[in-house]
Amino acid sequence: MCGLFGIRAPERDVARVSYFGLFALQHRGQESAGIAVSDGGRLTVVRDMGLVPQVFSEQTLRGLDGQLAIGHTRYSTTGSTRWANAQPLVHHGRARTLALGHNGNLTNAQELREELQAEGDRLGSSSDSEVIAALIANDPAPLPEAVAHTLERVEGATTAVALAEGRLIGFRDPYGFRPLVLGRLGEDWVLASESCALDLVGAEPVREVRPGELVIIDQEVESHQVVEPTARLCLFEFIYLARPDSRLAGEEIHGARIRMGETLAAEAPVEADLVMPVPDSGTPAAIGFSRASGVPFSEGLIKNRYVGRTFIQPDQGLREQGIKLKFNPLAEVAGKRLVVVDDSIVRGTTMRQLVSILFERGATEVHVRVSSPPIISPCFYGIDFGDDSQLVAAGQSVEATRREIGATSLAHLSLDGVQRATQLPGAEFCRACFTRKYPTRVPAGRILQKLRFEPASV
Ligand code: 5GP
Ligand code: MG
Repeated sequence: MCGLFGIRAPERDVARVSYFGLFALQHRGQESAGIAVSDGGRLTVVRDMGLVPQVFSEQTLRGLDGQLAIGHTRYSTTGSTRWANAQPLVHHGRARTLALGHNGNLTNAQELREELQAEGDRLGSSSDSEVIAALIANDPAPLPEAVAHTLERVEGATTAVALAEGRLIGFRDPYGFRPLVLGRLGEDWVLASESCALDLVGAEPVREVRPGELVIIDQEVESHQVVEPTARLCLFEFIYLARPDSRLAGEEIHGARIRMGETLAAEAPVEADLVMPVPDSGTPAAIGFSRASGVPFSEGLIKNRYVGRTFIQPDQGLREQGIKLKFNPLAEVAGKRLVVVDDSIVRGTTMRQLVSILFERGATEVHVRVSSPPIISPCFYGIDFGDDSQLVAAGQSVEATRREIGATSLAHLSLDGVQRATQLPGAEFCRACFTRKYPTRVPAGRILQKLRFEPASV
């Protein structure tokens, strides 16, 4: 998914504001973080592996001077978790130099990489994002046309922020799979993946950058509709990706997730003693389920909030404790008929282990309720959903999945239920992971190797 932030503020400490903006977007990527600043001419970048506060110290922030900045938190969908793939990436092209942060995933990066390399471009990363930076940086046309040409060539999902020609820019592909919002901070301008980052830095949301739109930010914002829009915002942003306090298309995500839980209770009711979430992502839907069904809500599971993606892998003995690193059930589950609510089942590992420890703690029934439909097909637009073989629901019935996770019963919210919960009746979403109907051309066999550009020796 990845988190993006950008700011133009000549009188402010732009690196520090970016740091806090990224801090609010940590949920969108925990593998690496980076900030690029520009004083109009000179470009300085600090990027490294780890969480935002692990990458930046007071000292590094002080060293980042400028009027413009962009920031990035990475969650990889193409390329491994290593330094060369941390962003913002800087590309010195034949026409201009560009610092870029990308959220999305390209499906035709292979051919574009080969083309760039044949022209003598040296690509330092094994990610697809550098292709976007290189195409813009090499294009002799003025910036809006260079971005237009690039968006016409890249397939897949591209939402990006960049520094180029002394200006801050932001753009979205014609589908607008990944979000980007424009905000005002006093006299200054801010871009962010989600409105929760604007809230933290004290900026007011102005509007969303439109699908197919490029904004060039100077003292004022210049808008260019560089490609015809075919809006297909990712429905999974509403289900899981975005933070509950963010607003998408004017709707607060938390409210949408509560409505998903309410509808789920109506669609798949069950007699039980307790409704409990798989925290944190399952919590709003569990609240909604409890409200609509009248079954009392309780925590049930305590989550260790310090387990991130970057945590040190336990040894074999500890690994057998598996899920307990992350969740520990409360004694109150003993003797109860439970409804366990989560936002999604991907590989099924979380739920299989949870059901088993809940029974171990003495639960008498474990009814699993999921506030999204079964995920039956991979995502090519910026979520690491892998291929069919990794998706528990691909090619099998809900009943077969129920058996696999060992639950007393299993039910999913309908696609219509999810969509109604967004309260955006006119909106068209990308729902390919639930329907297998992709808005763009997708790779043959629906397989896209995440590490396809990795050097063999790494
Ligand atoms: P599973 O164990 O079935 O693979 O994953 C399901 C859990 O992962 C759910 O609790 C859900 O909130 C969470 N989840 C859903 N999508 C993603 C994703 O793209 N990345 C990560 N890290 N977790 C996800
Ligand atoms: Mg979760």
